[in-house]
Amino acid sequence: MYPVKTPWLVKKLYPNLIWNINNGSRCIYLTFDDGPIPIVTPFVLNILKQYEAKATFFCIGDNVTKHPEVFEQVKNEGHAIGNHTFNHLKGWKTKDNLYLENFLKANGLLHANLFRPPYGRIKRSQIKLLQNARPGLKIIMWSVLSGDFDINLTPEKCLENVINSTKSGDIVVFHDSLKAFDRLQYVLPRAMEIWNARGFTFGAL
Ligand SMILES: [Zn+2]
Repeated sequence: MYPVKTPWLVKKLYPNLIWNINNGSRCIYLTFDDGPIPIVTPFVLNILKQYEAKATFFCIGDNVTKHPEVFEQVKNEGHAIGNHTFNHLKGWKTKDNLYLENFLKANGLLHANLFRPPYGRIKRSQIKLLQNARPGLKIIMWSVLSGDFDINLTPEKCLENVINSTKSGDIVVFHDSLKAFDRLQYVLPRAMEIWNARGFTFGAL
């Protein structure tokens, strides 16, 4: 199981990671992990465009290599780009030097100042290494996990989770991946319609 809302204790244990944005504005920060890929990423871009929304895409370097045209489209449409390693490595199970190497390999393509550790798993030593290698690097976690990757979650329940959990300043995780697409394509247009009707705007990090 995973919590839809990040528990306050977890946020407190890692205060130098970014969990949400408290700037007082009625803004939601949508993030999309694991792309860019054909079909799914362009689907997301199209929905965002309908609401003049900006979002942040945490890209896997390997996918950028395979689908450079989709990556270009994300950038051209004015969204923020974040690094999500080259091979979607799990920090807790990866040696620090290999983790750094994989981050740098991805950043050669992404040139990003934002990073999100795959699975949200990163060691303190790895945080330090990455921030030393790229001063000013912001490590972005989340405050709302949509669960769109969960094949046992119905699209309806996924929508309900996201709508009930999200408030101003939240960082919400979705995935532009094939695995998540069944839920994403149901949830994203409906959630954005509801948020838009409630007066929220959508910002990039
Ligand atoms: Zn991921």
